[in-house]
Amino acid sequence: MTILANYIDGKLIAPLNDRYLPNVNPATGQVYSQIPDSASPDILQAIAAAKKAFPIWAKTTPAYRCEILLKIADLIEKNHEKLALAESIDTGKPLHLALQMDIPRAAANFRFFATALLHQQDKSFQTNAQVLNYTYRVPLGVVACISPWNLPLYLFTWKIAPALAAGNCVIGKPSELAPMTAFLLSQLCIEAQLPAGVLNIVHGIGAKTGAFLVGHHDIKAVSFTGGTATGAEIARIAAPSFKKLSLELGGKNPTIIFADAPYEQALETTLQSAFTNQGQICLCGSRIFVQKTIYEQFKHDFVKRTQHLKIGNPLDPQTQIGAVISEKHKQKIESYIALAEKEGGVILTGGKKVIMLGENANGFFVAPTIIEGLSPQCSINQEEIFGPVVTLQPFDTWQEVVEQANNTPYGLAANIWTTNLNTAHQVAHALDAGVIWVNTWLMRDLRTPFGGMKASGVGREGGFYALDFFSEEKNICLKIENS
Ligand code: NDP
Repeated sequence: MTILANYIDGKLIAPLNDRYLPNVNPATGQVYSQIPDSASPDILQAIAAAKKAFPIWAKTTPAYRCEILLKIADLIEKNHEKLALAESIDTGKPLHLALQMDIPRAAANFRFFATALLHQQDKSFQTNAQVLNYTYRVPLGVVACISPWNLPLYLFTWKIAPALAAGNCVIGKPSELAPMTAFLLSQLCIEAQLPAGVLNIVHGIGAKTGAFLVGHHDIKAVSFTGGTATGAEIARIAAPSFKKLSLELGGKNPTIIFADAPYEQALETTLQSAFTNQGQICLCGSRIFVQKTIYEQFKHDFVKRTQHLKIGNPLDPQTQIGAVISEKHKQKIESYIALAEKEGGVILTGGKKVIMLGENANGFFVAPTIIEGLSPQCSINQEEIFGPVVTLQPFDTWQEVVEQANNTPYGLAANIWTTNLNTAHQVAHALDAGVIWVNTWLMRDLRTPFGGMKASGVGREGGFYALDFFSEEKNICLKIENS
């Protein structure tokens, strides 16, 4: 059984209390590795190492930092298959998804920020002939990066790479439910000769290890992706010490399909935006609004295609739907399906226990589920389920659908399908969402701002937004005396 270690001061070390947590393979329900159950002394050790490393790392040239981060990207690519297999086993996601999406994106995150840092520019403002203002950016110091279990290495590196690129030293806390690729990343960082203490990865329980990290006075910023309730707790702890906060939180994203949508493309992509990664992507569309004139046709086709999705062993290349992350999460999803029936919903497909055989008999599988007949106000249409469960709702006009789409506490992403440019613009402008796709989904350009409105978060990640978050901008006002 693999025993994971913390990565502190450039070394892989056991937790000081020598305590471990079981790590479960969601597709089998079996414990297959042990994770450090780190406590405050481990965090203190990591912070001390990061503080020691910071003055040197902060003064390195962008070219030097770029070179090291590119080495890490190269090593992620070299270990692509090993990392993808680890991600699939750790999370239950189909192996092909980890091969095609998670691991390439982790390498791209390092490559993108390594080179973005070379293109940062400072500003100058000539006030008059004697006075010049100029700005420059300084790293913050030691920062915390806390990531969730759904896209483990993808989201962990999305934070770590810009933080390191901007010259900070980092304490990373991956999710206790999916820690394996963060552990493998620490081995790659050692191989890439990242200087000791620049990146530290401490495993453990969020409410204990994560909370202590967030509250520590030497942590200058917290970049967090996870649930809205956890984000609120982190904001509460961080506020008294005025730490910079970037919070990427939950969503209840609408997919809006107009009658003039490119039908086949809308149908196929909506299948993906509903059920990719078992619906456990913050950008998945869980409320599908379909214009009345095509509602019955779309419902029929969507249900039929969903029923053809292959649920199975994540390591099987044919599998389209793997396991959800944990027994507890499976129960949460099932409780929402039961509630949907209680609230008057009609289950069009799914909603039943999935019977798996052999080594997957005790895995955490949930069938893709489509529900109709629920009011926009009910819990299923208001609360984030974060599983393969979507609702279908008919609408008449764009004004009506915008009102319904905006009618949740969240505002992360939205998906619009129409061939009418006016409709696309009108609806996109009226929606409360930070990320809006028209006639496509999950198309990412890493330079663009990424983040949510309302209860979906505070701040933007991506491109220079992330490099700016992980630095302070200073303005120098210089008066030149006439000689
Ligand atoms: P959680 O909020 O439960 O956990 C996220 C991370 O925070 C984990 O590493 C967790 O550790 C840690 N954590 C938990 N409690 C605390 C605390 N009090 N202080 C510090 N850290 C803490 O989210 P999930 O892991 O369950 O992820 C699913 C959620 O993430 C969904 O709501 C989803 O929408 C959201 N998400 C948002 C994205 C976005 O970009 N907006 C992208 C992806 C997901 P541990 O796991 O050990 O408890």
